[in-house]
Amino acid sequence: MDIVPQELRHLRACLLCSLIKTLDQFEADGCENCDRFLQMKGNRDMVYDCTSSSFDGIISLMNPEDSWVGKWQRINRNQKGCYAVSVTGRLPPGIIRELKTNGVTYRSRDTSQKT
Ligand SMILES: [Zn+2]
Repeated sequence: MDIVPQELRHLRACLLCSLIKTLDQFEADGCENCDRFLQMKGNRDMVYDCTSSSFDGIISLMNPEDSWVGKWQRINRNQKGCYAVSVTGRLPPGIIRELKTNGVTYRSRDTSQKT
């Protein structure tokens, strides 16, 4: 379980939906699930704010509609890809406020944290 290939070391997980991609991918394309809320595309600072390099567990989501893992992680309506089970860190308060005005309730993906 602790075997992590070298090329996974520069991966980051989105703090909102837990999608895992590399820093460069987030900067180039933003987050496929969240970019209408978090404008990470072309904005490396936002990528650092909205993603975390510290996460646990990787779920590969290939059939989002009928994946029990997807339902469990509340990501069954999201894009196919790799998702983290737990993401350490929180979105900055200003971004959480912005999400709220867009009708999005942010839930921390950090399972080590009691809220
Ligand atoms: Zn996301």
